[in-house]
Amino acid sequence: MPVRAERIAADIEAIGRMTHSPGNGADRPTFSSAWRQARDHFLAEAERAGCHCRIDAAGNVHARPRGVAWSRRVWLSGSHLDSVPHGGDFDGVVGVVAALEVLRAAHEDGRADLPLEAIVFAEEEGTTFGLGMLGSRGWAGTLDAAGLAAVRNRDGRNYWEAGVDHGAVPDRLVAERLQAASYAGFIEVHIEQGPAMWKHDRRVALVTAIAGRRQYAVTLRGTANHAGSTGMNDRHDALAGAAEVIAAVECLPDLLGDHAVATVGRITVSPNAVNVIPASADLTVDLRAPDDHALDHGDERLRAFVASAALRRGLGHEVAQTESLPAVRLDEGLADRVRSAAERLGLSPLPEAVSGALHDAAILAPLVPTVMLFVASRDGISHNPAEFSRIDDVAEATQLLADVVRNVPDAF
Ligand SMILES: [Zn+2]
Repeated sequence: MPVRAERIAADIEAIGRMTHSPGNGADRPTFSSAWRQARDHFLAEAERAGCHCRIDAAGNVHARPRGVAWSRRVWLSGSHLDSVPHGGDFDGVVGVVAALEVLRAAHEDGRADLPLEAIVFAEEEGTTFGLGMLGSRGWAGTLDAAGLAAVRNRDGRNYWEAGVDHGAVPDRLVAERLQAASYAGFIEVHIEQGPAMWKHDRRVALVTAIAGRRQYAVTLRGTANHAGSTGMNDRHDALAGAAEVIAAVECLPDLLGDHAVATVGRITVSPNAVNVIPASADLTVDLRAPDDHALDHGDERLRAFVASAALRRGLGHEVAQTESLPAVRLDEGLADRVRSAAERLGLSPLPEAVSGALHDAAILAPLVPTVMLFVASRDGISHNPAEFSRIDDVAEATQLLADVVRNVPDAF
């Protein structure tokens, strides 16, 4: 089943033109007309490649070769077509097109029985409804119909209202939920969205874990006072305390092992005036690591840093955890299968990576054996019109995918 880079390139270009901001990147909010156009492109191409297609109650599209009944156990591969505002042409699209291209290659080879289902997840990014991976969460059952009714887009329409013309139906959500036993495994091809692979000239990598994430709201409370008449030893400066915390957060990943990252992304200071010692500082902390022990350790260290900075300066303090998503270990058995395929294709040893960003794969991984394949992102730029990946790299990942899904062995 030889995959064709020129067909992959043509799809990515065609979908890139389906945007609400022509010339200024991909703008395809879920259930918008540009998003629908991109989804229709996938459906038309899949049907041309001899597939039958269906849309599940959460609005995700599924396509299988016509020779493969919906009841048969198969591999699953795909990603998303929605984008952030002014995003790139590769995020999500690459994974959808890779699965589509394997179906086309099989059709060309007369393999009407290829055990592969391609999937387009509805709403991955989180920018349309303020919460991400809604299509996969709805299908996997980690978000119910009421949960999807509680999120709204900028027109004030909830997931069901916005999705009604695109196949989303709350009444069928439970009946059409993912049946894990129907899938041998899920393989999501995606761009890396970070600089590591490009920098080290790694074209395709096997992702073995998706980082977990903890987010915090940290508050430091001091005393507002006159910036001229209050001596340096008589101050309770909340912003100076926050500065210590920010510097400590930047060093935190060094204590947590490989692939850990920590960010203070937002700070609010009060009263925020040139001649007043700051009375309070509120900051956010986003901490990610590929295993939960590292996250637990990071949690302890963060609380200790804040407490000691507060104590030194006589400040009140609070650390509230606002989100906790566990790290996801991807499937070792399926990873081995990918490594063997890489060996057959002369791509061995396949570089390995950890995903710092969340993906639909993180939702499916607890239910179905899951791995991801990353394709290098030029200079690590993503969620930006300048986002770029080499078509040859996408084709290489697609060929690897094609090799993995040739058959479903009994062991899976
Ligand atoms: Zn994505």
